[in-house]
Amino acid sequence: MAGFSLDSVEAVVGSGRAVISADDGTVVAAVRDALRHGRSATFYLTPGQAATVKSWYWTPQRVEERGLEPVSNEELARIGSELRIEGMGHSYSNRIVCECGAVYGAFEFVQQGVAEHGKEQVDAVLALEDVYVLRVNPVNSAVCPACTRGIIVGHEYDMTGSYGCCRSEAPV
Ligand SMILES: [Zn+2]
Repeated sequence: MAGFSLDSVEAVVGSGRAVISADDGTVVAAVRDALRHGRSATFYLTPGQAATVKSWYWTPQRVEERGLEPVSNEELARIGSELRIEGMGHSYSNRIVCECGAVYGAFEFVQQGVAEHGKEQVDAVLALEDVYVLRVNPVNSAVCPACTRGIIVGHEYDMTGSYGCCRSEAPV
């Protein structure tokens, strides 16, 4: 691992989360295992590992089932002008309709991310070039901004090639 920093490992482990360093096959197998058993985990993958995971996870059938689509230029422009988050090209998201009728897609996801974690942290994650942050079965809930009560189930995304998710089950 070039540029391997024990300081950053110490910071992560110090927060109570283990770091695993392994060859590509082992890491990809760990992702599949978490997915298969419905466990939640965050993986920090190399671009090559991320490409491997995404190529078997995002089959054409799953893309269609989950409704994953490229984020439109209109939505990207709105994310830029209203949330001041730039550089969101090459992002994918599905659009989930809340019980109240509102839609939860890329804009709402980024909006919630900025509200919960701050613009700086969202910018930092989206700017990652050599790390892909993969959330397997993420535990934090997507909340409908229109009614603020609805929990959005089944939102999926692949943002700027640096941040995405995998879920064990299809949305209900
Ligand atoms: Zn709602």
